[in-house]
Amino acid sequence: MAEFEPRRAFEHLDKLAYEIGPRLAGTRGEQQAAEYIHKQLESYGYKVEAQEFDFVDRAAHTQAGASLLAAAFIVTLFLPEISALAVFLIALAVFSSLPKLMPKQKGKNIIATFKQENQKKHLIITAHYDSARCVVNYRMQIFVKLSLVPLISIALVFMLVRAAGVLQISWWPIWLLLAFIFLPVCGGMFWAARSKQVSAGANDNASGISVMLEVARVTRELQPSSEATFVAFGAEEQGLVGSRAFVEKQKFEGENLVLNLDMVGAGKQVFIIEGNGLVRKHRTSKKLNEVLIKCCEHIGPKPKLWWAALAGHDHIPFLRAKLPATTFTLDSPGTSKLEPRLGKIFGLPNTRGRGYRYIHTMEDMPEKIELANIELAGKVVLEFIKTV
Ligand SMILES: [Zn+2]
Repeated sequence: MAEFEPRRAFEHLDKLAYEIGPRLAGTRGEQQAAEYIHKQLESYGYKVEAQEFDFVDRAAHTQAGASLLAAAFIVTLFLPEISALAVFLIALAVFSSLPKLMPKQKGKNIIATFKQENQKKHLIITAHYDSARCVVNYRMQIFVKLSLVPLISIALVFMLVRAAGVLQISWWPIWLLLAFIFLPVCGGMFWAARSKQVSAGANDNASGISVMLEVARVTRELQPSSEATFVAFGAEEQGLVGSRAFVEKQKFEGENLVLNLDMVGAGKQVFIIEGNGLVRKHRTSKKLNEVLIKCCEHIGPKPKLWWAALAGHDHIPFLRAKLPATTFTLDSPGTSKLEPRLGKIFGLPNTRGRGYRYIHTMEDMPEKIELANIELAGKVVLEFIKTV
């Protein structure tokens, strides 16, 4: 009987993270990875489809946005009140439509489907294959992420009150005070996006792809009763672009269940993502999580739930389309105090920061991955496919 062979999965991981290496969306590395995944799936006997989509480079987008906001803010000091407000509003409008205005690059998803006649249940197993630019300063990034919207709102209120002319006071000291916070945040935003180095992404997420490929091979041989689609997403690190494009273009019929694999190679603890976000919350399917917990316990480890307050996962676009979806991941103990604190403030249990400290660094290499984890993840996913 066909079985999950962790060594085979590890060969994929080595190929992706060592031989190909950095796989930033839109680069040669990402393209090579897509070709490799395509060929592997074909070699297992699948009919494979490459689905193209457009995306805007996230770092370029962030830097353009930061420059625009900073420039507009500075200009407002030298303009009469009404013009200043108008300039700031125009800048905000341009800021929000930057993705439409900026040059596009091409990305692709690689899709393989295992078909079964008259089957109503359909599993979608996913993982992203692109890797990320190295993080320049994680704390800075988080600070900018959390403070940008409140700051823009404060600046806007300031311009509005000033333009309304109800208070006859000298405005420039207040402007100066605001500039003292606003401009460094724009600077931080620009600076944090600047890294030229790209991670080889062994754990994030060559690990997920390698498990998915090996599971696809075994599934083809096992011929389970449920239908399954395997999707390797491009451009996840650019803002879940591949998974969004997939959900937009796919016609979902019958009952669909989505299991995403992200960072399954390092750490001792198995986690199932309970939800994402702080203000805008995306809760994963409770029923699906319960099935997955049973599958884990059948294989051995007891999983924990994890509310990823500051991170996104490729299951989110599926949740938005009202499909039951979740992410399976592994991790080491988290040391960040920020997430648990935010969790308390926003009333979210199970909030934690990632413990794997090599994420989005040059050190996220295959030697950080444990074969036992790859085997565990593979067995859990296969158990899941057999169970549902
Ligand atoms: Zn990832």
